[in-house]
Amino acid sequence: MSSGVLSDRFGRRISYLRLSVTDRCDLRCVYCMAENMRFLPKQEVLSLEELERLSAAFIDRGVEKIRITGGEPLVRRDVLRLIERLGGRLGRGLEELTLTTNATQLSRHAADLKAAGVRRVNVSLDTLDDAVFERLTRRRALSLALAGIDAAQAAGLEVKINTVALKDANRDEIPAMIEWAHGRGMAMTLIEVMPLGDVGADRFDQYLPLSAVREDLEARWTLTPSPMRTGGPSRYMTVAHTGGVLGFITPLTNNFCDGCNRVRVTCTGQIYMCLGHMDRIDLRAALRGPDPQRDLARALDLAMARKPERHGFDISGPGQAPAAPRHMSVTGG
Ligand code: SAM
Ligand code: SF4
Repeated sequence: MSSGVLSDRFGRRISYLRLSVTDRCDLRCVYCMAENMRFLPKQEVLSLEELERLSAAFIDRGVEKIRITGGEPLVRRDVLRLIERLGGRLGRGLEELTLTTNATQLSRHAADLKAAGVRRVNVSLDTLDDAVFERLTRRRALSLALAGIDAAQAAGLEVKINTVALKDANRDEIPAMIEWAHGRGMAMTLIEVMPLGDVGADRFDQYLPLSAVREDLEARWTLTPSPMRTGGPSRYMTVAHTGGVLGFITPLTNNFCDGCNRVRVTCTGQIYMCLGHMDRIDLRAALRGPDPQRDLARALDLAMARKPERHGFDISGPGQAPAAPRHMSVTGG
């Protein structure tokens, strides 16, 4: 039975866990979910205690950073308790505890997140326009999200804005969003839409390559490549006009798998070794079995042996099937 640090057969050390705590969400973003999503019954979802034990197993195998995600993590009622308990591992194996959120519930939780040891949150926001927000998320909640961002900054949390670039939806608005984010001292990262799950729309109609966005931006501003690296797939540029940092995540136009340091676990305890593949291993069975410590260690070894070299996303033409028939809200982005 192995108990060493997690590393895969390509020599990549796995130090980053993205842990989904729920598949539920209060929004229905058009690129993430179908309008009528069916959510999991509660008994399928890991309990707070199971999530904590699972996280501890990863920390004991060298995971230094955990990002809590979903669905929308803040719609899970006991998520703050989990975050507080994981916060207790900060400085004891865990170096960073973060959260990705749509910010609609952040007003209520920002101060408690800060008190639990969270320093930074990623907020997903694709527009600052009420009508576009409603069209993209199928909900009227922009003011809630903006209030959540205000509260997070007031509580002293560092906020990074993640924006999915979408053809015909927010292309023209991106420069104004960059000015807004940088003006408030927030870094921003642009993301290409990935073909995950059937969302009732053709991905080709949503897909806007970031190479095109970059051309738009370079026509008006000077962008300088930044040496900044955060161990993730983002490549950064400094925007001279705003003085801020802009990240680009380009799964389609650039493959970013060489330096992959992460795995994802769903709220039902399925570990996905790659966002773009369906292969998974059931950690819940190990957790709920007769010898969780042994079985979890074996399952994690197996996961490392099966982590693929790279994803295979492709939206080069219309009418293609999803790369993985699993929604982003399942694996948590
Ligand atoms: N609900 C939270 C949120 O929106 O921040 C956390 C979960 S959400 C699935 C995580 C991230 O995945 C969000 O930034 C969202 O924009 C992104 N996302 C969802 N579906 C995507 C897709 N098909 N392609 C690219 N990004 C996607
Ligand atoms: Fe919910 Fe986040 Fe998916 Fe939007 S991207 S539907 S906020 S999980």
